[in-house]
Amino acid sequence: MATNGMSLLFRLPATLRPAAYRTAQGRAKSQLSSLAPSNANQCRTFTTNAPRLGSTPDRATDCDACTAALQSNRKWAQDATTKDPELFDKLSKGQSPPILWLGCSDSRCPETTLLGLKPGDVFVHRNIANVLHPGDLSSQSVIYYAVGALKVKHVVVCGHTSCGGVAGALGNSTLGPLDMWLEPVRELRAKNAKVWEGLDDKEKALKLVEANVRAGVDVVRKTPTVIEAMKSRGLTVHGMIYNIASGQLEELDVSEGEEQKSVREAAFSTA
Ligand SMILES: [Zn+2]
Repeated sequence: MATNGMSLLFRLPATLRPAAYRTAQGRAKSQLSSLAPSNANQCRTFTTNAPRLGSTPDRATDCDACTAALQSNRKWAQDATTKDPELFDKLSKGQSPPILWLGCSDSRCPETTLLGLKPGDVFVHRNIANVLHPGDLSSQSVIYYAVGALKVKHVVVCGHTSCGGVAGALGNSTLGPLDMWLEPVRELRAKNAKVWEGLDDKEKALKLVEANVRAGVDVVRKTPTVIEAMKSRGLTVHGMIYNIASGQLEELDVSEGEEQKSVREAAFSTA
């Protein structure tokens, strides 16, 4: 799903691809290039010792972005061990993350990095445009496990500025399987069309990002495991928007009224 979806996204008309998206792609490529070994000999030396991702010999000697990333991984693991010698040993024994993050697949929104946290701190589900369908087995399984078994304390639904999936839902092109995936976002667009009349494209996109986060929070709060955890141990559900242009998160006010809360809780009550 993710691979097909992303290749479709790349085929979106240029007008549907925000400039920031293209710029970030170029920047990411140049960052990886700077990590790449500077000559073929270094590349061969590295790949000889590196774990192979596939068995094809000529692939293993390619000096490409993936090779550079593997090299970067070695340095990262060494640096992390230097800072905290017990980190990987602790992680190998289990996890107890306090946060479940439900965000967008976008490469510019790596939750653990932008939160300044470490492996083991955040349990994650990401998909295109952070859409939360109540009937989606993948996200619902993640929520069920993270809340019911790992007992996370916070669930964060996070959207972001310059979201390609939201831009796709605002456009009128057909996008293959993404049409089905983005249907709830298109529904929000249709529902708010009159209210958002007169706004420019950027303002509309931001409104839709926010409405989509609020809809996601609503879906999460209506999940039986979450209802139970909110009542019994104070699990908190948050809505946030990540600003790609500043690197900062903004929290939305997603508090609910007493009446809304009691109606939601009554949905699965057997009393
Ligand atoms: Zn996105």
